[in-house]
Amino acid sequence: MLDKIGQTQNMRQVAGTIPIHHRYTLGVAGERFFRALRDEGRLLAAPCARCKVALLPPKMYCERCFRETSEEWVEVSGPGRVRSFTVLRYDLDGQPLDAPQIVALLEWPGIRGGLLHRLGEIAPGAVRTGMAAEPVWARQRTGALTDISHFRPSSD
Ligand SMILES: [Zn+2]
Repeated sequence: MLDKIGQTQNMRQVAGTIPIHHRYTLGVAGERFFRALRDEGRLLAAPCARCKVALLPPKMYCERCFRETSEEWVEVSGPGRVRSFTVLRYDLDGQPLDAPQIVALLEWPGIRGGLLHRLGEIAPGAVRTGMAAEPVWARQRTGALTDISHFRPSSD
């Protein structure tokens, strides 16, 4: 019974789930980033003086040159650009959604990185890469990425 099983076809399986809960800290940069989202309604990025770009989401160290980023974070201003997008028609359980949802990768000039977020107030067939989009802030902010309700098309 307790002998080591040498033949995998002799192994038994028991189906089930193990409830495991995780709690992660945001880290120094994440804490500051999400506080600014919640308290100021601002998107901040951490500049790298060597690479001459700002990192979004902000990081303490530049992942390209490994230098410490500046503590003088900058606001990500102006509309972002839709770099890529996808249209979701089913939820995570494979059930059809009431209405299609658009998820877009947004980027800004001078910013390395970007945000993945919902794109709304536009029909899926009208979305184009390169189009300008601005954040729509949630009425109640909690210090999460959902403090931005969604992005919507904007003028340049
Ligand atoms: Zn750098």
